[in-house]
Amino acid sequence: MIDIPAPLRLRLDGDALVRNWRTLDRMSGTAACGAAIKANGYGLGAAEVARRLADAGCRDFFVSNWQEAADLAPLGLTVSVLHGVREDDMPAATAGFARPVLNTATQVARWKAAGGGTCDVMVDTGMNRLGVSADDIAEGLLGDLRIETLMSHLACADEESPMNATQRDRFATLAGQTSARRMSLANSAGIALSGYAFDLTRPGLALYGGVPRGELGAIRQVVRPEAEILQRRRVRAGDTVGYNAQWTAAEDTEVAILNLGYADGYRRHFTNVGAALASGRVLPVLGRVSMDLVAIDVDAAKDLAEGDWVELDYALPASAAASGLSQYELLTGLGQRFDRVWAAS
Ligand SMILES: *Cc1c(COP(=O)(O)O)cnc(C)c1O
Repeated sequence: MIDIPAPLRLRLDGDALVRNWRTLDRMSGTAACGAAIKANGYGLGAAEVARRLADAGCRDFFVSNWQEAADLAPLGLTVSVLHGVREDDMPAATAGFARPVLNTATQVARWKAAGGGTCDVMVDTGMNRLGVSADDIAEGLLGDLRIETLMSHLACADEESPMNATQRDRFATLAGQTSARRMSLANSAGIALSGYAFDLTRPGLALYGGVPRGELGAIRQVVRPEAEILQRRRVRAGDTVGYNAQWTAAEDTEVAILNLGYADGYRRHFTNVGAALASGRVLPVLGRVSMDLVAIDVDAAKDLAEGDWVELDYALPASAAASGLSQYELLTGLGQRFDRVWAAS
């Protein structure tokens, strides 16, 4: 293989990632703080994220499925698989490199039939997505299971909603009702609510720089997309840029074309809304974001030339507000064409 440097890269700040985990760990009080690293560590790279957090002291990791767990097996971490076990997962699940979070009576039966090693269990407290019910538990469904963590998931932790306290109270009544050694309820936003940490928290978004609630203002940006300038051109007054001529030059304007587009996760929502950053200058996106290209206004940056690099403004709370996308989508959509470059730790 010839090693060709990509024309776009993600700068990933390992110090900020670790500081964010420490912030969340501190805010979790006496509860341990784990890490949700599903969807390839929210797009950053699950193994790279896990290694850094494990070095910092994180002991509990959460992925969605067994392929994700298998990819992490060489690291020898404690990994829980949130979607439980399908029949097809059983060879992996009984191999011992991760444990399932059982969600349904069928999964419980499947796990018991296979010998029923240590597992986790998800109980639904009102989100009506995954999980067994409190009634299932009262009726003895979890009877002979060896449960490490009983968990539930908050539907509205990023809002002031009465549902938060309802879910917490329903969950709290299950303490001591199962063999579980630990109880876990809070995601990133849940950590900012007081009295929701129980024994273990499970942040994802905030580790990676997402800020789902104001109380998490200490969270730092981790991910910075950068792209190379492919061409610089002068667009005459009255001319347009890009597909469907969505931007018209009011006056002669210097424009740079970047090697980045919606196929890389830089979504069309940034059309005429996004910006690049170069030495403190804000360079607005001009016209429609294409699949592989985006145009920016470089009138304020006489120095930038073909072959230079710029950073895209990807501060998550502000970018989400500007684009209408969620902070989760902004992270998990980041594509495979980026070189992922870690700085520090
Ligand atoms: C994704 C996920 C988390 C992490 O949620 P964030 O909002 O990203 O902090 C925690 N628990 C479960 C069950 C999840 O699916």
